[in-house]
Formats: sequence, structure tokens, C-alpha cells
Amino acid sequence: MLPVIALVGRPNVGKSTLFNRLTRTRDAIVADFAGLTRDRHYGTALLDKRQYIVIDTGGLEDSSEGPIFEKMASQTWQAIAEADLVIFLVDGRAGLTGQDQEIGRELRKINKPTLLVANKAEGMKDSAQLAEFYELGLGDVYAVSAAHGQGVRDMLQMAVDKL
Ligand code: GDP
Ligand code: MG
Repeated sequence: MLPVIALVGRPNVGKSTLFNRLTRTRDAIVADFAGLTRDRHYGTALLDKRQYIVIDTGGLEDSSEGPIFEKMASQTWQAIAEADLVIFLVDGRAGLTGQDQEIGRELRKINKPTLLVANKAEGMKDSAQLAEFYELGLGDVYAVSAAHGQGVRDMLQMAVDKL
């Protein structure tokens, strides 16, 4: 069985874009509108000739009311349960949101290696902008641009080092 990596985060942070970048497919639906990726979606990423299964989740986007731990669709929790490692994606431009904090709280409860990744960080010179993500209590925040590819390979390396 190949190691499994789940991509988790609130809508619109770029999970499907990162999935496509990692798996080099266009299979996931990348939407400018939140809520389009409804189901779990599997692909494989390659690093140093090793293969990893990557899960794109859209389940967090399924409902709009109530605390996020209630609305996290079972699809997302199943993906997390299946995963050996979770990549928790946040939006480096938007900054820390209440939804990020709720997801972070849930992820801290589960005993799985988690890599906190701030996306949309292209051209971001001031890393102080990312300092607030340390509040999530999930350790270091790693900056990438899924759309442009910056940092993605190194991020995957950091992730698999946690396996
Ligand atoms: P998801 O809802 O988390 O799956 O997010 P998507 O992958 O559908 O992306 C949401 C929006 O963010 C889309 O408009 C993407 O083009 C945009 N996006 C994704 N990655 C980046 C990035 O690295 N930089 C910027 N500026 N935009 C991005
Ligand atoms: Mg998506």
C-alpha cells in the first residue's frame, strides 16, 4: 500500500490546484467558485521515484451553516482517516480565518502528522505575513504557490519526511 496524503482546508485555499500540481493531472475540478469539488478525488504524486496517493477533498465546502467541525462532511473525515499524513492548506494572502482555526482545532485532536502550508505565497517577500498562522499550534508554516509551482516540490519533500 502506498502512503496516503490528504489535502485539507477551507474552500478556495487552492487544494484542487495543489492536487493538480502534485499529480500533474487536470482531473480535479479547479473552481473559481467554492463548492464545486464535491467528492474525494485520488491521484498519485511522484517524488524520487516513490509514489504517494494524494486525496483532494471538497467535503468542507458542502454546507454553509454552523461550526466547521459539524459541517466537515464525512467525505473529508474519511479522507483524513485514510491518510498517513495531512497537508493543511491555508491562504497566505487572506491570512488566518475563523474557519482555519476551527479546522486546526480538529486536526490538533487527531494523532496524525500534519504539515501546515500557506498557499498563494507567490511574490510574497515579507514572511511576517505568515507569522499569524503559528497561532494554529501546528508548528511551522510552509509557503508555496500551487498555481505557479513555487515551493511545491520542497513541500512534498517536507511532507514525506514526516511519514
Ligand atoms: P479549493 O476550493 O481549495 O480546491 O481551491 P481551488 O484549487 O479551486 O482554487 C481556488 C482559487 O484560488 C482559484 O481561483 C485558483 O486559481 C486560486 N489559486 C490556487 N492556487 C493559487 C496560488 O498559488 N496563487 C494564487 N494567486 N491563486 C491561487
Ligand atoms: Mg477544490
